[in-house]
Amino acid sequence: MATHQDPCELCAKLRTCRDGTHPGLIAELDTGFAVLGDSQFFLGYSLHIAKDPVTELHELPRVRRVRLLEEVAQLAEAVAIVTKPHKLNYEALGNMVHHMHWHIFPRRLTDPDPKAPVWGQMPQGDMANRHLFNANTHEELLIALRTTLMQIRK
Ligand SMILES: [Zn+2]
Repeated sequence: MATHQDPCELCAKLRTCRDGTHPGLIAELDTGFAVLGDSQFFLGYSLHIAKDPVTELHELPRVRRVRLLEEVAQLAEAVAIVTKPHKLNYEALGNMVHHMHWHIFPRRLTDPDPKAPVWGQMPQGDMANRHLFNANTHEELLIALRTTLMQIRK
């Protein structure tokens, strides 16, 4: 069974969330940090990175796992309100980076293949660079997600 990796790129991201240097930080939640994804090809793509360095949801105590799922749903609701997608995709794969994290992708009918998973649809090379998260370009999106998420959590 896959175990938490050392070093772990998500533990490194969590450190930047905690020290305030993660440019895409949406909010700190009880069970994790909500951040915008490095690629914004699917505009509004966000992640919930678990604070607990587990690799599987069932490894969390029941109360903690229920809280985590609630917070993933809250983040997803904020993404839905802000980006108004046709559909949301939730993914917790962890095949490459085992530390548990949840991808939330807003999907649109204008996606390259709207019925297929996002993987394989991300642009490559220069096209990928044009869709990288940028603190200036995506400032309004980031603030809208943060504000909406905080309203949902009241
Ligand atoms: Zn980790």
